[in-house]
Amino acid sequence: MSKQNQHEGILFVVSAPSGAGKTSLCRELIDTFPEIGQSVSFTTRSMRAGEQDGVDYHFVDHSCFERMIKDNQLAEWAQVHGNLYGTALTTLEQAADQGIDLLLDIDYQGAAQLKKNCKHGVFIFILPPDLSELERRLRSRDTDNDEVIRRRLEAAQEEIAQAVWYDYLVVNDDLTSAVDKIKSIVIAERCRSERSGKLLQQIVK
Ligand code: 5GP
Repeated sequence: MSKQNQHEGILFVVSAPSGAGKTSLCRELIDTFPEIGQSVSFTTRSMRAGEQDGVDYHFVDHSCFERMIKDNQLAEWAQVHGNLYGTALTTLEQAADQGIDLLLDIDYQGAAQLKKNCKHGVFIFILPPDLSELERRLRSRDTDNDEVIRRRLEAAQEEIAQAVWYDYLVVNDDLTSAVDKIKSIVIAERCRSERSGKLLQQIVK
């Protein structure tokens, strides 16, 4: 366990429909808690301008990804918008060994797999205030055509239906207040008594 952590490493799993503001929220969270590690996923999607292999994702081809599935190297994986994405088992194992908190930005299908297998996970779903605001945000990005936006809105409804089984729901109506809520979740989860056995031992020793 690292010196800064009085608790065992926590897995913070964050999901959201596209346009809900998850990327900005995760960035703010890491700025506040730079000791939280960020999992770098494997994906078959092609690299976008400005992305770096090994930093944003590990970019691999289909056969490599399928081999990882077959060899049980992935803690979870899913097909999202036609591409495969997955988290390496070793990423979770290393963080757990070192007592490091880890942030996973993954879709609900992958989150559901971890929820089943991972007792120390904290599952957070980011919601838009409503679907018309989500549509406004998707259009204001000016990156997608009408058809893509229509598909993303349809997918968003399916994704939001999954929010019920997450531990926390954070509505991103205002970035500052949504960031405050996520920070509060991290702080509160670190204080949970069931994670603090070592802390008590240290105090009474
Ligand atoms: P993007 O291609 O825009 O970076 O990500 C598309 C979606 O894939 C996002 O919703 C993101 O959360 C999800 N995603 C990224 N990495 C993983 C992963 O390792 N596993 C799963 N299940 N989803 C992921």
